[in-house]
Amino acid sequence: MRTPFIAGNWKMFKTSKEAQTFVKEFKEIYEKSDVKVALCAPYTQLAALKEALIGTDIKLGAQNMHFEESGAFTGEISADMLVELGVDYCIIGHSERRQYFNETNLSVNLKLHKAFAHGIIPILCIGEVLAQRDAGEEFAVVRSQLELALVDLSPELAAGLVVAYEPVWAIGTGRTATPEQADDMIGYIRKVIEEKYGDDISEQVVILYGGSVKPDNASELMNMVEIDGALVGGASLKPVDFLEIINF
Ligand code: 13P
Repeated sequence: MRTPFIAGNWKMFKTSKEAQTFVKEFKEIYEKSDVKVALCAPYTQLAALKEALIGTDIKLGAQNMHFEESGAFTGEISADMLVELGVDYCIIGHSERRQYFNETNLSVNLKLHKAFAHGIIPILCIGEVLAQRDAGEEFAVVRSQLELALVDLSPELAAGLVVAYEPVWAIGTGRTATPEQADDMIGYIRKVIEEKYGDDISEQVVILYGGSVKPDNASELMNMVEIDGALVGGASLKPVDFLEIINF
């Protein structure tokens, strides 16, 4: 049985001070639940967030990392650096990184390997753009992104993966995928994982939906059979909204 998982992706929002204020307010209203919760914050907030989250069961996540161990990569952050700050999760291959920062299926694959090698759980983001859905190519696109991300990944590691299906047309647009669209694709993603690794492994992989998840649509999405949780952007920035989603 997979535990429901709600992760916030703060993207490029909040200073460390604002992050601390968020946690202070959130702690006042949050009660430990059966849902696993994580906050994926910008690098500069991670240390302060880690400290602020002491005493809670909320996990810490980053939003990107480099695939090399170390080296002359100005402006980049390594897995070791994240581990030192107590990071549990790292978003890998978010569509905004694919769109604006040249993230490719190859770099995503290398990052997955590196994250696992350092004990960081990757949250692998995949999803089609609107033109691909309109052309009926969404399943082929998602299959290809997934297969390329998983190249040379052992079944043992794959079992610990978190995948987030984020249709690009639903991100930050207020246009959520219907629960059926999300459920269909997530079922398909699990099937592709099963083809590669078998039933035992595919049943362990946690698969989230992301794209305009809000307090008023969270419960409908979360109650779909295939959907294990959500990767929440905008609505994770406010303690009350984020909590409502956690308590779907
Ligand atoms: P929104 O929830 O703001 O649409 O963002 C989704 C997302 O990109 C999470 O990674």
